[in-house]
Amino acid sequence: MFELTDQPIDFAALRTRLARPDAGACVVFEGWVRNHHAGKPVSRLEYEAFDELARLEGEAITSEAEQEHPGCTVLCVHRTGSLGIGELAVWIGVVSPHRHAAFLACRQVIEEIKRRLPVWKKEHHSGNLAEWVNCTTESVAGRLAPENYYARQASLPEVGAAGQVRLAEASVLVVGAGGLGCPAALYLATSGVGRLTLADAGKVEVSNLHRQILFTADDVGAAKATVAAARLRAQNPLVKIEAHASDVTPANVRALVTGRTAVLDCTDNFATRFLLHDACRAAGVPLVSAAVYRFEGELNVFAPHQTGCLHCLWAGKPALSLETAANCDGGPVFAPTVGLLGVMQAAETLKLILGLSTPADLTSTRLVNLLDASTQSLERPADPTCPVCSKVVTSSAAEDGSFSLNTLNDSVVLTAEQVVDLGPVQTIALLEPGETLDAASAPANTMAIAMADLGRLREVAAKGPTVLTCRHGLRSVALARLLRAEGRPNIHALAGALSAIRPGR
Ligand SMILES: [Zn+2]
Repeated sequence: MFELTDQPIDFAALRTRLARPDAGACVVFEGWVRNHHAGKPVSRLEYEAFDELARLEGEAITSEAEQEHPGCTVLCVHRTGSLGIGELAVWIGVVSPHRHAAFLACRQVIEEIKRRLPVWKKEHHSGNLAEWVNCTTESVAGRLAPENYYARQASLPEVGAAGQVRLAEASVLVVGAGGLGCPAALYLATSGVGRLTLADAGKVEVSNLHRQILFTADDVGAAKATVAAARLRAQNPLVKIEAHASDVTPANVRALVTGRTAVLDCTDNFATRFLLHDACRAAGVPLVSAAVYRFEGELNVFAPHQTGCLHCLWAGKPALSLETAANCDGGPVFAPTVGLLGVMQAAETLKLILGLSTPADLTSTRLVNLLDASTQSLERPADPTCPVCSKVVTSSAAEDGSFSLNTLNDSVVLTAEQVVDLGPVQTIALLEPGETLDAASAPANTMAIAMADLGRLREVAAKGPTVLTCRHGLRSVALARLLRAEGRPNIHALAGALSAIRPGR
């Protein structure tokens, strides 16, 4: 709940309103009017708001906190009008069965109110002097001048004042606020990337802390994207940081990616990796992608219109290398490997923005092994039969499914007639998150499996001839190649798209 009032806040009454028999904790924050700011004495304050707008935004902030911290009830009241020294300007109360959730929710509301609430503050000084101050940057105004903050970086001849302007104008999306995303986002923020969006649906877990350097033990249980964004705002208040605390899905990926200067793939799952890659390719946005396995890491920059794409890259590789060890599912992780690869992603992104990327940066796979401290740069081979980036088939033809993969003379890919010639087969519809299979219009005996569930896929494929299908007919081919590379010759992909798969909403 959120309320605006021009009357003094009666906190005892508010506390009573929050009372709940199952509540074991009540965390309260009170914001008071103080008699100084930025070295100047203050005699009183005035708060002004667009009431309706402020109420809507305030309500959104408190209900987000209640959703992200189940069990919490949040009440926030903000004053408007003229306030004297020592008066209560904002009161936030959170009750919850347990104190930890209440602390986290209260902190989230404090941060978001300060950042998002359309309330303006006018400071009155002695002698009838007054000035409007920006609530979001008031604590840093005057202390953090950009020319000081970026001085050591802007003095690099490769950056300079002009480079600093390019960085300030850049907009970067970081998908995954984990072992890779934390260091990557930290360096992008401190380097002055003007707009940075962090996308992650996860919550901070104890087992994340050894490598996910934006989080502390106090953050366990809180939404990763929200906490990371708050941490980065504190690190560099001069840039705009946004949190997208939900999954990247086929339904929202286009909106998230379009118009970005670059996108970072810091994810840990196969489905999102391909989804981001394809969306970036379609939107003409460079993708800086990293994957880590124990002591080894791999970095790729996929530039738009460049051949040698993600589909080519993983066509002949064991499936193990598709799954990074940075995930939350309990895989072993050597923290410095994800740290190093995240920092490398930040470096490649800054180089893209500053125009410092070399042709080799955009066409090579960089490999790092921290166990023997070796590095390698391999030319990234383009698969001439790749349905996504090869010159044989244009990507626009691939998107509307109007080409025949079978013309590529690839025995992995079969037409519906050739599938019939195989005899009894198991057909699998590979679903992205949100997608559904319309069984009535699918081929008989089609089984739906999540694209990311490689374990289940291997299990089914081991039983006999298997034909993979998917909504666009592209990832099914990539997966079929991949499983073949693991020694499963009985696996095929059906040419073309499967219209029985309905897109996610
Ligand atoms: Zn390709």
